Amino acid sequence: MEGKVIIISAPSGCGKSTIINAIQERGNVSMEFSVSATNRAPRAGEQDGVNYHFLTTEQFNDLIARNAFVEYEEVYPGRFYGTLRSEVENRCAAGHNVILDIDVKGGVNVSRMFGEKAVSIFIMPPSIEELRRRLEGRGTDAPEVIDQRVGKAEYEISFAPQYDHRVVNDDLEKAVLQTERIILDFLRK
Ligand code: 5GP
Repeated sequence: MEGKVIIISAPSGCGKSTIINAIQERGNVSMEFSVSATNRAPRAGEQDGVNYHFLTTEQFNDLIARNAFVEYEEVYPGRFYGTLRSEVENRCAAGHNVILDIDVKGGVNVSRMFGEKAVSIFIMPPSIEELRRRLEGRGTDAPEVIDQRVGKAEYEISFAPQYDHRVVNDDLEKAVLQTERIILDFLRK
């Protein structure tokens, strides 16, 4: 049987990666992480081929020209992120479920592309103020980057109604269980 696609989007700092990692650690859901390509620089602790395939702009453009992406977006000015066909199509064909952590435009596009084969989940922050506190607490981004991300969050939240499901992350444990339940119910269908 063909594998299915799970799409997760959230404004930066909403705990999306923590939720995905927690679900993977719980081990109840059989799914593989699609490693995206990007031309942004790795953050401290990020590994090439694990968190992202870190590429130069030239390499990224070359992959666009070769039609290697299912979708790609300029998520921040000059910073491109894309889902590689090799990460999704082969795995689904081999019967594996694939989880995509992608931005709102990519999420809405992939959801349309895959139709019934995909479920889309939007992780919401409890509030914009709380989101800013979390980003500052994470300590990985410069103040101007945080301002940029908070500004973008409101725009991103306007896409939430287009997702199949919305999960508010005000309590991490509850958000993990709720997200896991949505995925398990979808995979069982
Ligand atoms: P970050 O730089 O914080 O890792 O990610 C920035 C944003 O890019 C996040 O919203 C993340 O979901 C999104 N993103 C990561 N990979 C992809 C991708 O392959 N396609 C799209 N459209 N967005 C992506």
